[in-house]
Amino acid sequence: MQKAEFLKLLQDPEVCQAIADVIKNGGKPVKAESDGGTFASLRDRFRQSFSLTSEEPASPPAKAPTKPAPAKPAPPKAAAPAKPAPPPKAPEPAAPSLEIGGGLFGDKLKFLRSHVRQATAEREAQEQAESMKAPSEAPREQYTFILERPCPVCGQKTRVVKCKSRLNAESTDIDLCIHYKDANPYLYRVWACEHCGFAADEKKFLKPLPKKTQEKLQTFLSESNLALPFMAERTPEAALSYCEMAVLFSELADPSYNRRANLYLIMAWICRYEGDSAHERAALDKAAEFLDLSLEAESYPVDSMSDTTATYLAGAVHTLRQDYDKAVRHLSRLISDRSLQTSAPNVYHKARDLWQDIKKARQ
Ligand SMILES: [Zn+2]
Repeated sequence: MQKAEFLKLLQDPEVCQAIADVIKNGGKPVKAESDGGTFASLRDRFRQSFSLTSEEPASPPAKAPTKPAPAKPAPPKAAAPAKPAPPPKAPEPAAPSLEIGGGLFGDKLKFLRSHVRQATAEREAQEQAESMKAPSEAPREQYTFILERPCPVCGQKTRVVKCKSRLNAESTDIDLCIHYKDANPYLYRVWACEHCGFAADEKKFLKPLPKKTQEKLQTFLSESNLALPFMAERTPEAALSYCEMAVLFSELADPSYNRRANLYLIMAWICRYEGDSAHERAALDKAAEFLDLSLEAESYPVDSMSDTTATYLAGAVHTLRQDYDKAVRHLSRLISDRSLQTSAPNVYHKARDLWQDIKKARQ
């Protein structure tokens, strides 16, 4: 937006009120009823990216249960976005091509580009509004801090937000999503470069990329304009958009099914914190799909995750999806391995408890 246009807008009392609301709201974007801006409509577009419609029934409860639902397995829902079972033999993960064109990938890229344009415009307006208030009023998020790290693609130092490690945990769901008292650290799990736009899970972001992959990503990013403006505080919608970016780069240049499953799991947890069960379910479906592929085709450990943990996670995610047959298949593998009682007792006991709960629920 040009400066003259912006100054003209400031003469409108409604606009001034909206800006005042942003300031009162700690610098976060104004809610959907007035802005029509960046993140207000992102949830709708996020829904589209998962091919969901607003008529679609929300299958799991708003808050994920820590135990499987006591009801009998639900019949398959006609409108549910669940994918068919993966093929018996998963293909070996191959380095994805960087070729881009039409189809689903092209749609996703188009969606992300338009999102970045809107985010940038909104951020510029927000920064101008913030510049009009006293510096002492600037909001500070006490659970996060900002640090600088080199981007593995462009090499420039970028600001990233990290959660403080000492957060008060209140409960843990069966898929290992931890609920914290006053914070949602999953909002900040994906790091993004404010210069080139590359985004990835923190662990992946900190690892150097193979030279060839780095060069291909540099070429792709230099032509794509995907850099989102830096945000010290993220709304759930903004965090989901960073996750979408990370999935895009995972599809482009990371053959690991496990890491892609983790990105979808983070999305599911962000939706769960928000009580958005329909999108949580869509993300869980994708996480389950990629965990199954990973366990069939990948060598473990992947990053720091063992195959025992990945198998348990697959069992837990299928339980939350009420696909009890697949859940039991994964969990049985764990509880039939007695050595886990000593090598991984926590996972063993969790798997056994979950397996017993499913058994009871199906009686
Ligand atoms: Zn970069």
